[in-house]
Amino acid sequence: MTTNPMLEHALANFDKTARLLRGEFPADLLLKMRDPRERSELRLSPELADGRTHTIRAFVVHHNRALGPSKGGIRMTPCVTLDEVTALAMEMTWKCALIGVPFGGGKSGIVADPEQLPPHDKETLIRSFTRGAIRHIHPLVYVPAPDMGTNERDMGHIKDAISYSLGQATTQGCYVTGKPVILGGIPGRREATGRGVAITTAAAMKTLGRDLCGATVIVQGFGNVGAVAAHALAELGARVVGIGDIHGAVYNPSGLNLTALAAHVRKQRSVAGFTVGRHMTGAKLLTMPCEVLVPAATGNQITKENAGKIQAKIIAEGANGPTTPEADRILEKRGVFVIPDILCNAGGVFVSYLEYTQETQQEQMTEAEVRTRLEQRMQERFARVCQTAQERKLPMRQAAMLLAVRSVATAIEAHGNLP
Ligand code: NAD
Repeated sequence: MTTNPMLEHALANFDKTARLLRGEFPADLLLKMRDPRERSELRLSPELADGRTHTIRAFVVHHNRALGPSKGGIRMTPCVTLDEVTALAMEMTWKCALIGVPFGGGKSGIVADPEQLPPHDKETLIRSFTRGAIRHIHPLVYVPAPDMGTNERDMGHIKDAISYSLGQATTQGCYVTGKPVILGGIPGRREATGRGVAITTAAAMKTLGRDLCGATVIVQGFGNVGAVAAHALAELGARVVGIGDIHGAVYNPSGLNLTALAAHVRKQRSVAGFTVGRHMTGAKLLTMPCEVLVPAATGNQITKENAGKIQAKIIAEGANGPTTPEADRILEKRGVFVIPDILCNAGGVFVSYLEYTQETQQEQMTEAEVRTRLEQRMQERFARVCQTAQERKLPMRQAAMLLAVRSVATAIEAHGNLP
């Protein structure tokens, strides 16, 4: 039993899907997918700028690698737990399978507050994590990427720490994705998740016969995913009326000036205090009038308490696990169209796969090529999930899970059983 709500929800979603697949696969095989393959807890002891040696906990989880090496980002928050990382690793297994990349699911967590760490201390901590997790990080074992609280710069330091320890100028093969382009990263990776959110939102609007041009959008989270999704949706003609982050939220029914807001956030490190708009709590923002709501912050934001009050017609899950199963049931009854996380935010891992193949083959891709392939893949998988949802009369989340879990189960069967 677990007491972590994200893990409980991930398991509840899996169990529902396993019931749908009972006739297709043996029960033991389905059970095998429920548990992670390996969960490690690390103690890091970096010496930070205050001259003290700090004890910092970190986690690495490999959920399943039937389809390939584990893939999944590094989350750095003050309250990340091993169970949360396990839930996220499990979601990565389904996401990679659904979007059709040859990776399994993994995830890491570092228990620290990135907002409180000066840049040099963050670099020290990332290098300390790389050293502690070195047996996990390898192109054929686990390939990390950015997640909440980590970014491109951190991924560059991971690559540098590994090549330094090998005594080489660089690494051969792809050890980490989401790196700076100059260090073998791929143009368009940073924007890929947010762009994928916008692409699937546009597809959902089309499916529902609605016009994205002029449609009102609220985005929770103005980090890597939320900020890019907001800009990409605005580029497609939508009107972004509300943005929130961990410190507060701003709402303006006439539309927010995203360039001015981004400049404000660069200076103040928050949307709070932005002058043009009505200020409110992040919780209130979720229930304000809009056609599209993009939760792009953290898990468990749409719950049974607020699901009945949400006014959006479409929820595009930029974040991982933002909606609880109870909230899902309420939204389904109310006819809200949910683009599930394993589909909606899979653009990041798809472009990570392009970065992986580019680095493995020592090729170079242009941003235009990356964008075209991202667009095609997101649209194709969206259509596949939609078709399954219609044929099997399932909500989008269940349809996406059905396709993903079936694909992993098929790979496990193809491997056969080792003692
Ligand atoms: P980030 O650290 O760049 O930004 C997170 C944003 O969310 C910040 O604006 C922060 O203030 C806000 N936030 C955090 N907690 C909040 C709360 N309780 N209420 C309101 N706002 C809050 O992180 P990111 O990389 O943009 O990731 C956001 C979400 O997207 C996470 O759930 C992550 O797992 C998911 N995701 C990220 C990627 C990626 O490529 N970065 C890929 C797939 C999924």
